Order: sequence, then structure tokens, then C-alpha cells
Amino acid sequence: ACPARVFAPRDSVNTEGDDDEDVVDLAANSLLNKLIRQSLVESSHLVEVLQKDPSSPLYSVRTFEELRLKEELLKGIYAMGFNRPSKIQEMALPMMLAHPPQNLIAQSQSGTGKTAAFVLAMLSRVNALDLFPQCLCLAPTYELALQTGRVVERMGKFCVDVQVMYAIRGNRVPRGTAITRQIVIGTPGTVLDWCFKKRLIDLSKIRVFVLDEADVMIDTQGFSDQSIRIQRSSGWAHPALTVAAVEPWPPLARTLRVWQCITERGGGAPGLSAWLRPGPRSPTEGPEFKVLSPGERRRLQPWPGRLLPCVSARWAVSHQTRQNAKWLTVEMMQDGHQVSLLSGELTVEQRAAIIQRFRDGKEKVLITTNVCARGIDVKQVTIVVNFNLPVSRAEEPDYETYLHRIGRTGRFGKKGLAFNMIEADKLPLLMKIQDHFNSSIKQLDPEDMDEIE
Ligand code: ADP
Repeated sequence: ACPARVFAPRDSVNTEGDDDEDVVDLAANSLLNKLIRQSLVESSHLVEVLQKDPSSPLYSVRTFEELRLKEELLKGIYAMGFNRPSKIQEMALPMMLAHPPQNLIAQSQSGTGKTAAFVLAMLSRVNALDLFPQCLCLAPTYELALQTGRVVERMGKFCVDVQVMYAIRGNRVPRGTAITRQIVIGTPGTVLDWCFKKRLIDLSKIRVFVLDEADVMIDTQGFSDQSIRIQRSSGWAHPALTVAAVEPWPPLARTLRVWQCITERGGGAPGLSAWLRPGPRSPTEGPEFKVLSPGERRRLQPWPGRLLPCVSARWAVSHQTRQNAKWLTVEMMQDGHQVSLLSGELTVEQRAAIIQRFRDGKEKVLITTNVCARGIDVKQVTIVVNFNLPVSRAEEPDYETYLHRIGRTGRFGKKGLAFNMIEADKLPLLMKIQDHFNSSIKQLDPEDMDEIE
């Protein structure tokens, strides 16, 4: 009962038929989130722990000292400016460090400290005197592998004899080479090559196995099979599985299926001890409005511009299509606003730069396409304008995308607003959204700017 291919392509399409970016680049989004996050995001979500017993050694900790980490690791953590564990770390670290270790899936939004948690687990479990790979971390892309490696290097700065090896394209290691570094971070293809073809890594000696960005890996065809093959051959003694969840949440069901596949095929592998995940989210984090346009789309155009001066807030305008996003950007620029456009044709670096500028307040309005808006987490956004309602191929509302878009306003204790610009014939769609989330979406009169302001 293990699906060979678990990737279900996103079913959102535009209504105008000119969307050419319906492939979500999940790995690029993950990297972008990493690049734009320099600090920890306070996660207010509930964390569900299967092991809830407060007397258990696996129960959450409040300080890093309680984890009884090696002195050099504590020094590394404090040198990075960490004071106390984040929510997910509080829950996950005792499990990752327990004897015997507990397998787990950790799911939380980007920037909540998952990478730091499993890096700490790897650094805690290596034996610096054993000169062979003991921890293996799979990442979906070259860049993400490098990012994680940098965290290992920073956190392990005082663990003098522990070293990282990158199993990524371009890093050519001749057959027969003895790898003496304890932590290997790489992409599935190269790791597979190193393990089975070149025999550089003895998988039976792997104590910690990390599947970083597991949801992305599982969504990438071929990666899930490769990851399962690697995991199956690694020593079952202490593998820990970590999931970095990318919003929206539901793909985790697939992750769980893959976990089941791994454990079923692994034969005798220890099962999942815990699944740390946030509680459900609802779109009620800020008020939602609908604005009915009396006529054609063009009449909607002055809206964000007119609203802008009266709210010194940050805007994100979500668009279904690239072409429309461009049109709106030009219109607003001509109107004298500082606007930036995030679209899929840009490279990851260009997108990161745009988000950084928005984060720094250089542009107050960020216009994004449907695809780009997904997975990118800009916490400064206080107002979201949906220029088109997200719909599925069947012309049904795409609830997941809607929640994802407006769920990003008013987070982290800030108050947010969401506006939906719709034409009269789309009203039934909005009613469905309202029913689905059991929320009340207030109607505003487009002729009455005072009410809106
Ligand atoms: P995730 O993997 O969930 O996206 P990261 O582990 O990359 O999150 O953490 C996000 C940012 O927060 C990083 O810059 C990291 O150095 C920092 N960070 C992680 N844990 C802590 C902590 N306990 N205290 C302070 N900063 C932290």
C-alpha cells in the first residue's frame, strides 16, 4: 500500500488562461525561506506530542542546559546567540537525544528552529574519534545542503574534531577513498552514488538519518524512492527523521505515508515515536473583506494605490497569473508607488533579493503570482489583497491556497487585514470560502472609499 509516486501536482489554474507557472518550485521556496530568515520565528502554534507524560525524560525542556549537551556544543549554541530552545526544539530535542533514540517527524513552519534541532542532534551523537560517516542528512537541493552544512559548521565550531562532508554534484571523490568525516550532507542522487556505486559510505554505520525538507523530497519524483533506499540500508539503531514542513500543511499526510513505507520495507525498523506538529490554523487571524466591483477589472486597479497612503502597512497582492501581476505592477508604479514584483521567472537569488528589500521596507507593496506567494513567508505582511480568488481546475475555490495567502496576515500577534477583489459572478465562490472556514467576510462598497479607509 505504498504509492510509487506521491506527488500530486497542484491543481490551481488561472481563470484567464495565461498562467505558465503551475509547477511549484518547492525546493526554491524552502531555500528562499532560509535565505530571508535570519532570526527565529516565534511559533504560537500548539504542539501535539504523543509522549505527553511530564515525568518522562522525553518531556519538553525549557533550557539548553536541561538537555545535558556537551560543553563544546553549548558554547556553539550560545555563540550563535541562542538563549533558550524554540517550541519545536523544546519538544523534539529530548526525543532526538534520548537513549534509545526516538524516531520522529517534526513539522512546523519555516524559521522555527527545526534545522538547528537536528543539527544539534547530529553533533551530539557523533563520536569525533570514529573517522567514518555516522550522520547522514539528505536535502532536496545542492543549495539547501550547503545551508545546512553551514549550520553544522557554526554550531560545531567548538567540536574541533568533527567535520562535514558534502555529497553534492561537483564534489568528486574517487572510488576507494576513505571518508573520515563524521557528518555527510548531500542530495539523494549523489549520496546514492557514494553509497552503492562508489562504496564510500558504509550505511550500516549511520546512527542518525535526517530527511530534511521531507515534504519537498517526497514531492520530488525520484527523491522519495532514493531516500527510502538509503534509509532502508542505514543502521536502524538510531535513525531520526526530521521533516521541515512547508505550508500549506496537508502534504504532511504524504510524509507520513512515506514514513510508513520506510518502516514497512525496512523490516524490523523501529516505528515512529512522535510526530510533532502544530495545531490547526484557521483564517480568523484578521478580518476579511470582500469588495464587489461593479464592472470590469480595470475599475479595481486604483484600489491598492488609493488605500496605500492611509495605512502605513505592508502589502502583498496575490495574483493568479504572471501577466496580470505585471500589469498591476506597472499600473501602480505609474501611480507613483514603490512596488516590487515577485514572479517565477526570476532566479532564486533575485527572488531572495526582492523579499529582502520588502522585508527591509524599501518597497511597501509586494505583488506576487499565485505560485510565488505559496511557501514564502514574509511576516511583515499586514494586508493581503487577493486580486483574484484562487480556484481549482474544477472552478471550485482552492481553500488551501486561500488560507495560505490570507493566513499570512496578522501573524505573530499583529493584526492583519485581507481584501478580496471580486466581480459579481465570483460571489458564489466567496460564499463557499466563507462557509468552508465558517468565517464572516464583510462586504465593502467600492464607491465608498471612506468606509474602506
Ligand atoms: P527551520 O529549520 O525551522 O526553518 P532554523 O533552524 O533554520 O528553522 O532556524 C531559523 C533561524 O532561527 C536561524 O537563523 C537559526 O539560527 C535561528 N534559531 C534557531 N533556533 C534558535 C534558538 N533556540 N534561539 C535563537 N535563534 C534560533
